Amino acid sequence: MHEQTLAIHAGYEKDREGTMAVPIYQTTAYEFRDTKHAADLFELKELGNIYSRLMNPTTDVFEKRFAALEGGEAAVGTASGMAAIFYAIANVAEAGDNILVAKQVYGGTTTLTGHTIKRFGIETRYFDIHNPSEIEELIDERSKLILFESITNPSIDVADFDAIVAIATRHGILTCVDNTVATPILCKPLALGCDLSLHSASKYTTGQGLAIGGIIVERKNLVDAIKGNVRYAHFNEPDESYHGLIYSELALPLFTLRVRLSLLRDLGASPSPFNSWLYIQGLETLPLRMRQHSSSALAIAKFLESHPKVKKVNYPGLESDSNYALGQKYFHGGHSGLLSFEVADKQTAQRIADSTEIFALVVNIGDSKSIITHPASTTHQQLSAQELIDAGVPGGLVRLSVGIEDTQDLIEDLRNALG
Ligand SMILES: *Cc1c(COP(=O)(O)O)cnc(C)c1O
Repeated sequence: MHEQTLAIHAGYEKDREGTMAVPIYQTTAYEFRDTKHAADLFELKELGNIYSRLMNPTTDVFEKRFAALEGGEAAVGTASGMAAIFYAIANVAEAGDNILVAKQVYGGTTTLTGHTIKRFGIETRYFDIHNPSEIEELIDERSKLILFESITNPSIDVADFDAIVAIATRHGILTCVDNTVATPILCKPLALGCDLSLHSASKYTTGQGLAIGGIIVERKNLVDAIKGNVRYAHFNEPDESYHGLIYSELALPLFTLRVRLSLLRDLGASPSPFNSWLYIQGLETLPLRMRQHSSSALAIAKFLESHPKVKKVNYPGLESDSNYALGQKYFHGGHSGLLSFEVADKQTAQRIADSTEIFALVVNIGDSKSIITHPASTTHQQLSAQELIDAGVPGGLVRLSVGIEDTQDLIEDLRNALG
């Protein structure tokens, strides 16, 4: 089936009532047929609903639909994008291990990997997304994950998938892509050879800035990369917290299953059924919206490029952009609504962000409503001067999340704000 059809139908089988819209299963728990049924569910002899911290029928549709769009085997929803990132890390790494992370990542990912998980004994080693060969020197036997964004926020760089996947494959290390900005519509990391992808569902998935959520997707046959791999011994040895279950011996998608049975069980950042329902509504129009976001952003990038007050525009759809070739290679149907541009200095950037009328001054992306952000004073405010440079966020940088209003109205708004 084609993408637009999957976006509308995947993962949902109509219930007894023939309900067209996916119902919201607003429930904490589920009745077992009898004690044997209950025991079978807990032992995974039969798969089914136990408790909504672990699974929920509405969330299940969201997960299946997202996995279908991303071309993955299975997915697990989380309460936020940050929870998805933390769980992806915590599912592979423990104290004494290290992970390899691109320097150019979302601000929350920088603080999570650079500070929070350090206190859990997990070390982060950073590489430059422009120079993936750096990864090779950072790897040792305790390296557990390579984490990067398909298109970075806010520096707007496109990852060189082939180069990163080649290194990961050579060393038997899992790759995990934060594909939030690209969405499954514009880029498919799993088809490019990556093992895992994750998203903040708070962005383009709802599309209207309605709810905080996240999701992790695993590729088909991920077991092949994990079974017998000493880096992932905990997937190959009995899990004492689950009666000696050995994940790599199950005929089930093992990565997302372990997130569910271990991390959601013990840490519990699961999505609410209502929020999952909102994501399902959003996914229905995701392909349509991504095309509009992308074509509008390209027109705006071209306008900005021709403006005398703009020093530089970062958008992979522009032929002048250093990411143009990678964008053409790895993206299909557009490059999202996210772009950034540089003006003379911090004051000028702040004045522009304060002057737009349609573009709202908000720290969010992926909304139908256009957004303008000054990263150095907001999303990246907690970063040191060096971290700002590493993340590619100079003081004069302005970020736009182009919505789906009329393109000409948006250009006029920016023309007036630039003055
Ligand atoms: C927003 C965002 C996150 C964090 O997601 P939340 O849902 O806000 O927790 C992670 N990565 C990227 C690229 C994001 O844009």
